[in-house]
This record gives sequence, C-alpha cells and structure tokens, in this order.
Amino acid sequence: MLVSVISVGNELLNGDTLNTNLAYLGERLADAGVPLHRETCVPDDREAIRAALSHALIDSAAVITIGGLGPTTDDLTRTVVAETLGLALHEDPDVAAAIRAYLARCAVSIPPEAIRLQSLVPAAAQVLPNPNGTAPGLCCQRPGQATVIMLPGPPAEFRPMVDDAVLPRLLQAVPPSLQRPRVVRVAGLAESRVEACVQATLLPLPGLQVAYCAKPGCVTVRLSDPCHRADLLDTAATRLRQAFAALALPPDCLTPADHVAQLLQARGWYLAAAESCTGGLVAAAATDIPGSSAWFAGALVTYSNEWKQTLLGVRQQTLDAHGAVSEAVVREMLAGLRARFGVRAAIAISGIAGPAGATPDKPVGTVCVGVCADAVTTVTRLQFPGNRHSVRERATAMAFVLLRTALLQPPASCPPPVVPLTPSPCCPEPRHVQPVQ
Ligand code: ATP
Ligand code: MG
Repeated sequence: MLVSVISVGNELLNGDTLNTNLAYLGERLADAGVPLHRETCVPDDREAIRAALSHALIDSAAVITIGGLGPTTDDLTRTVVAETLGLALHEDPDVAAAIRAYLARCAVSIPPEAIRLQSLVPAAAQVLPNPNGTAPGLCCQRPGQATVIMLPGPPAEFRPMVDDAVLPRLLQAVPPSLQRPRVVRVAGLAESRVEACVQATLLPLPGLQVAYCAKPGCVTVRLSDPCHRADLLDTAATRLRQAFAALALPPDCLTPADHVAQLLQARGWYLAAAESCTGGLVAAAATDIPGSSAWFAGALVTYSNEWKQTLLGVRQQTLDAHGAVSEAVVREMLAGLRARFGVRAAIAISGIAGPAGATPDKPVGTVCVGVCADAVTTVTRLQFPGNRHSVRERATAMAFVLLRTALLQPPASCPPPVVPLTPSPCCPEPRHVQPVQ
C-alpha cells in the first residue's frame, strides 16, 4: 500500500517551522509496517496544492494532507481537495456544534464565519474528531479510488489524530502480526560496525530488508520483509540480539538513557550529574524520561573552575596540573558527587565544545566523560567531530552509553551474567575512544 503525504504551508518552506508532523507520521507508519512512499511540501497556494494532490493520486492508495484546514484566507486545503476530487462542500451542523463546545471549554470566542468555514465537509467524507482544536480531520474514502485524509497542522492536534483515526484506518487491511517491522537498537557502536555485524549475522537470510538509522549513541536496525514473513523477521531479530549481546537495548528501550533508567530503577539507585560543557543536557535527557524522579537525583552545572572546586571539591592542584578538561578533574568531579550527594550512580563531563577554547593537545571536541556505578568507575577521553551543538549532543549521549556499560558490569562477588556482556566474535568490540555517531 503506497501512502503519500502533502505538507502544506509557507512556514515549512521558509524555515519558520520544522516539519515535525512528517517525522511523527513517518515513524508511526514505519513502525506499523506501512512506510511512507513520498512527501511533497507545498506553499499555501491553490495551484501548488492541486498539482501535488493530482500527482499523488496517480500512484497512492492513500494521500494524507497536513495543515491548511483553519479559518484564515491562507487555509486552502479543504477547498482545493474537494474541488480536485469533485466533491461539494456542505456545512455540517454537528461539526459546528463540536467547534462551539471546544471554544466554550477554552473560553474563547471566534467570529461565526470562522466556525462556518471550519465546519465545511466534502460530500460523503467522514469527520475525524479533533478534541484538541477547532478544525476536524476529514477522510474522503471513495470505492476503488485513493483515500484522501486531511489533518490539521498544529502538532498537538495532528499527533493524537494520527494515532486515533489515521493508523486504524490505514492498517485495517493488514493483519497486525504481519505489519510490524522488527527493530534492534544497538548502543555505543559506530554505524559501519553495526552494519558489518548485521551482514555477518544475517547472511543466510535472503529477502530481508535492513535499514539503519544512526543517532548519537545508538544505531537502530530496522528489519522488514515485503512478503511479510513474520517467522523470518523474528528469526533475524533473535539472531541479531544474540550477536550484539549486551550492546542491544531491550526491546522496550528507545535510547541508552531509557535503559539506564530501567537499570537504576530496578536497583533502587539514584543518579547525580556534574556537567560542564553539556550545561544541563544530561539533566534534560534524564528528566525527559517519564518517571525520572524514581532514579534521577539532580545535576549541577559546574561551568567555572570555581564552581567545580566549591561545589564538588575539585582541587586547585589538579586543575593546575591537568586543566579543567582532563580525566583527573572529571574523576574528582565524580568523587565530589558521590561524597556530597550519597548517590550510587554518577556522571561527570568536562570538555571543549568550541568554537573557542582549543589547545594543541585538546582540540575542539575533546570531552572527558566519567561515569560511576557503585564500585565501577570509568573516565574516558573522547574526541567528537562537528560543531558546538553536535559535540554537546554526542557527549550527553555517550555519558548514558558509558553509564549503561558500567551498570551492566557484574560486581565481583556476583555469578557471571546469563547474557554475555561482550558481543559475539562476528560483532566487533565497541571502541569508545573512536567518535561514535
Ligand atoms: P489552524 O486551525 O491552527 O490554522 P491548520 O490546519 O490550518 O490549523 P496550519 O495553519 O497550516 O494548520 O498550521 C497551524 C500551525 O501548525 C502553525 O503553527 C504551523 O507552523 C504548524 N504546522 C503546520 N504544519 C506543520 C508540520 N507539518 N509540522 C509541524 N508543524 C506544523
Ligand atoms: Mg491555518
């Protein structure tokens, strides 16, 4: 089934708004096994919308439009779709009543004409309720022809409608057990190494489609099969999990930070962080995870040397001898966190995010990341490529990758783990001194 998207809006083309709706829809559909076929982004212009729709209707089973359903003069999608499909628009009293009820709940009043325009529905279209806004979605399902679904642009309205109204309609033709691609996420290994391991592991499984998506600290391997052979996908995913061993994240974790959260919570441990160049990104990543108060104690942004000394007990002679960006200072930052806050897990980061601050032996992108999981402490000097944003983002991601690794180390007194901590021979060891994407 080919599904196309038409994103409508000048603001998407001139850089004012990032097309996050497309990313959301693309991910949701890919996870459901119906990946998007094509997206076209057009301005708020009648002819542009009409041309994009006519083109999409040639080969798509479903076309989803995003935006342009509101009451202002630049909201043209509803009219152009109705004209192109040859459907008359009529005022729907139920839609008008739902809009009035929504406005009353929000204690907002808009002109009657704005309500009338948003309650126009193409003949025989299904109305998709919008509990978070005024304009409803509209679904034009015509026998033997492409289905056209129109959705409003504001992400807070768009996303629930994708989940509640669009996915169930698109997926009704395909049994759920066959739709889902299998996903294996690998922590802390460069994309090319992940691919080498995947190829070595899955060589005897022809017909399988493998896609990679690298983000800082984690590579997602997505397995799909155009023939929907569920057993093939399950076998491939199981083989990959075995090959990557502890480098593979549990299926319910999307990021290494999610896994850290699980591991800490299972032990009843708390994490504290001391951040220099990341300026609070570790704390932001931790508190992004729902329920983080069960395992995250807090973070200090100790940007200046003075704050590193006063709040964490970093010694002047250590700073003088090694500089603020050094393994020795990060070790003392970790020790300070442990001693002052009584946590069993800790992250400390000091680095040069650039563009200034580099020295001959510490170029921009030099970051020392320290992690501590009770008795296990590691401090690693890393060299990240890219600009300030990229260095800070990668440093934050690697802190969680390294803490995850430390948390998975068995304490000396424990029996060996059931799951081996090293990947199988076909899968290379992670080398944290290399920049990891
Ligand atoms: P409204 O009733 O608010 O006018 P609408 O359906 O007409 O809704 P637009 O006017 O196109 O939608 O956009 C409304 C808001 O949603 C704008 O802030 C716009 O930037 C944002 N938006 C539109 N399309 C997208 C998109 N694809 N991704 C993210 N945001 C979007
Ligand atoms: Mg609008």
